[in-house]
Amino acid sequence: MDVIVRRGDSLWYYSQLFHLNLQLILDSNRELQPNQLSIGQRIRIPGFVAQDYQVQPGDSLWSIARNRNLPLDAVLLVNQNINPNQLQVGQMIKVPIRITWRLVQGRQFYDYTKMMRDIRQLQSVYPFMQVSTIGESVLGNDIPELLIGNGTKRIHYNASFHANEWITTPVLMTFINDYLLSLTNQNLIRGIVTSRLYEQTSLSIVPMVNPDGVSLVINGPPEAEPWRSRVVELNRGRTDFSDWKANIRGVDLNDQFPAKWEEERARNPDEPGPRDYGGERPLSEPEAVAMAELTRRRDFARVLAFHTQGRVIYWGYENLEPPESEIIVNEFARVSGYEPVKTIESWAGYKDWFIQDWRRPGFTVELGRGVNPLPLTQFDEIYQDVLGIFLAGLYM
Ligand SMILES: [Zn+2]
Repeated sequence: MDVIVRRGDSLWYYSQLFHLNLQLILDSNRELQPNQLSIGQRIRIPGFVAQDYQVQPGDSLWSIARNRNLPLDAVLLVNQNINPNQLQVGQMIKVPIRITWRLVQGRQFYDYTKMMRDIRQLQSVYPFMQVSTIGESVLGNDIPELLIGNGTKRIHYNASFHANEWITTPVLMTFINDYLLSLTNQNLIRGIVTSRLYEQTSLSIVPMVNPDGVSLVINGPPEAEPWRSRVVELNRGRTDFSDWKANIRGVDLNDQFPAKWEEERARNPDEPGPRDYGGERPLSEPEAVAMAELTRRRDFARVLAFHTQGRVIYWGYENLEPPESEIIVNEFARVSGYEPVKTIESWAGYKDWFIQDWRRPGFTVELGRGVNPLPLTQFDEIYQDVLGIFLAGLYM
């Protein structure tokens, strides 16, 4: 919601008026000088919308404000053009509404278009969340990154490296929505004061690393040639793409990283296809390049990559991980019931490369159980299990 600065207003005053953490208002208006507001300037107030309201018989601005648990001045602020003493029945005014509900509906077939719509909506209601693009997929879809928090501890979460594990995207988007809601409404999540997480950490999220692959699994092959014929051929003539993990060129993005890539390549298919093909060389695919460049640029203290399935958390790589990885994974296991597994015979994954090059904690979290793509009936159970990991990833 936007408001227009009046004589004597300050961001501090707005934080009192709307019961919002001042930092969230500051971070929603990064381009302005907080101590030099000028009259008529537009300020974004996070976590609120201004709703149209038609004045009913017996209404006053005072009663309208009181019925919504708002100070009178909050209603006056968004109705600067009306005379509060001459309210007419039938007149349209604005009323600030505190958003206390989720905007993201995660329990559905959740493709790239849905995700982008949700990101735009979240960004407009919660402008302290920053959105940028880390690169483009093979088909030219922007790969978005979301940033939440002001802290010095830089943490990264990603989802949908693998196309048929797309349920990880709505699970992660639901967490983002719940985190944003708890920040503006000052609610606890599982007893945790999230404003402290916001102060201490800076959370980077790439909710869909592989948009083209996810579209393939959910919506089928693209209309446009040559891609349509090409992917059907890579899928051995089948038009059912439910076991497709790779990007649109048939390269498995989580076998693309320079961490024993040759070993991984040697034991895997040597041609493009639905899964496990590591590409002609490490980082040959734009989605993997975007992730590698982001990771180098941001200098993360810790990364979590979300996959399905198995209810396990991989936390080691060639004994290069730091001792704190084990402490963190034990907390993840405690809060989720998932099983920590140090290593399996597997290389060239994103978390492998992160541990190898930075010697910092990296995790692959395998959500749920069953056959990929996991059914949406598992959504709520998965979310309840992994919520503890999302939080522990920030507070540990
Ligand atoms: Zn996976």
